Amino acid sequence: MFKIGLTGGIGSGKTRVADMLAEWGATLVDTDEIARMLTAANGAAMPAIEREFGPRALTPDGALDRAWMREQAFSDPQVRLRLEAVLHPVIGQETERQANAAAGAYLVFVVPLLVESLPRWRPRLDRICVVDCDPDTQIARVRSRSGLTEAAIRRIMAAQAARASRLEAADDVIINDGATSPEQLRAQAKTLHDRWLTLASTTGRQAQAQGQAGTPD
Ligand code: ADP
Repeated sequence: MFKIGLTGGIGSGKTRVADMLAEWGATLVDTDEIARMLTAANGAAMPAIEREFGPRALTPDGALDRAWMREQAFSDPQVRLRLEAVLHPVIGQETERQANAAAGAYLVFVVPLLVESLPRWRPRLDRICVVDCDPDTQIARVRSRSGLTEAAIRRIMAAQAARASRLEAADDVIINDGATSPEQLRAQAKTLHDRWLTLASTTGRQAQAQGQAGTPD
């Protein structure tokens, strides 16, 4: 199956783009959503998190206590690494499971931190698409959709890849800055969707032809 990696900084608009692609027939595998599911009450990662951090890392209903974890991680960078060491393998397994079960025109992995783990992602993807946005617009968008303060948003942005390194990894770029209207965003996404459909069918035919000729992949 033809595979796209869709990424962008917080508030860049990647969820909005992903929703449009799904509407047009792409299948989504969203790693943030997987992480949320695994760390919800009774989530598959919770026993391992409790073993690593103790019961104080859990809310009374048994979900990950995000506020506690965020606080710990800001005062001790090791905490973030320890949480990642617990979460990454389980997220990876579930991502793989969903990808293997996927049907549809092509597959889109929505990965906020794709560029941060580029060596792992690059070989799994046919294209990397970056939703690009200037930092001020990111902050304005995230402020209006969440209760986060500007300082908290800036801290999240500082922990993410720089805009330039994201663009460097991109095969395709969608510009979604402060001057981009929802219609302009949709038009760019549609152009790429059409291109990926063509690439997906060409790649599929080539793979089939190679298979018929008995040539290994
Ligand atoms: P991300 O998933 O990258 O964090 P979202 O897709 O959730 O970003 O977008 C952040 C917020 O900004 C959402 O409320 C979204 O509807 C809004 N938004 C994104 N792009 C635009 C745009 N071009 N015009 C207006 N609002 C936008």
